[in-house]
Amino acid sequence: MEAKKDFSDLEQEVIDNGKCALCGGCVATCRLLNYGYLSVDHDKERPVMGEGLECPPDCGYCYYQCPRVEKPEMRHELEEMYEVVATDEGLRAAAQDGGAVTALLAYALADGIVEGCVTVVRDEHWKTRVQVAMDRSSLIKAAGSKYTPSAALTGIPDAIIDRGLWSVALVGTPCQIAGYEKMLAVGRDTHNAHNFASIIRLRIGLFCMGSYSYKGLVNEYLAAERGINIREVTGMQISNNVLHVYSNAKELLSTDISEIEPYKREGCRICEDFTALFSDISVGNSGTPEGKSTVIVRTYLGKDIFEGAVERGFIDAKPLDPSGTELVHRLMEQKKRAGIAEKERRKTGK
Ligand code: SF4
Ligand code: SF4
Ligand code: SF4
Repeated sequence: MEAKKDFSDLEQEVIDNGKCALCGGCVATCRLLNYGYLSVDHDKERPVMGEGLECPPDCGYCYYQCPRVEKPEMRHELEEMYEVVATDEGLRAAAQDGGAVTALLAYALADGIVEGCVTVVRDEHWKTRVQVAMDRSSLIKAAGSKYTPSAALTGIPDAIIDRGLWSVALVGTPCQIAGYEKMLAVGRDTHNAHNFASIIRLRIGLFCMGSYSYKGLVNEYLAAERGINIREVTGMQISNNVLHVYSNAKELLSTDISEIEPYKREGCRICEDFTALFSDISVGNSGTPEGKSTVIVRTYLGKDIFEGAVERGFIDAKPLDPSGTELVHRLMEQKKRAGIAEKERRKTGK
């Protein structure tokens, strides 16, 4: 029988091998198991193990639950696409695009579907932090895209262990939602520590073409090369392959994303998922006009919550225009092909 693998194998095969998505799943799993040996080194943007710690020989869950060791198995329920806008003007103004993510979470909190939401906030330097939002104002703080890594799954033990919550929404990039699916697949029938499998009630995935190293994107590119004072930046958005950087209504920069390609995380280059295929509801801006969100309902659970949000007046929705659907499908295919090609390139060295 093959010896059980552990974090040292994860380091060797995934983290040091340019495959880590920094989803945070390994760190979350180790903490849910009450070991807490792993943490995220934010400078190096990678999971690390505390010094001098020795893992129990029968563990190894951090390795097996990693979505980059083996992908989770795909399940297909639905693919209903909508153009969505939050009805609350204040919320829409604070959020990006149509504010669909914030509005859906606000509805889930208001109707008691969840008690808290794992989301990501940023500080004035655009450094990210995972938070458990319990009210509207914390949700609003988390609105808007960040484009630097965040290890969102570390918010799961924060919600369950630190806050003692029993129903939680998870918002994340496609790799993070896939990471949770893999945690579920590996953990549900084995450890299911702290009953995490039944506590995550809703998964909202964010469209993603890539995440960029903080040092590269913020320090080297925006600050040093473009002379932008990062503290003045109030918004960043990548749309149609263009990076827009804003200071309130003023656009500070608009440039093709090929400019920031050198700073893309290695783990993102092999990523094949644009729309978060493992989410209940996926949200992005491709395929809808400015000020609107594209929403893909992927599961029956997601459909119930989406329809509840419409009925209770948190969002307005209409079916996505066929040209929008076509664009989303094209981008999905484009990212899938790019990820496969990069994996092949690494394998063959060409
Ligand atoms: S991809 Fe996620 S689970 Fe795998 S090593 Fe990176 S952070 Fe850990
Ligand atoms: S093998 Fe177990 S204890 Fe060791 S780092 Fe992985 S999850 Fe934590
Ligand atoms: S490109 Fe893929 S790996 Fe990178 S942040 Fe987006 S979903 Fe995660």
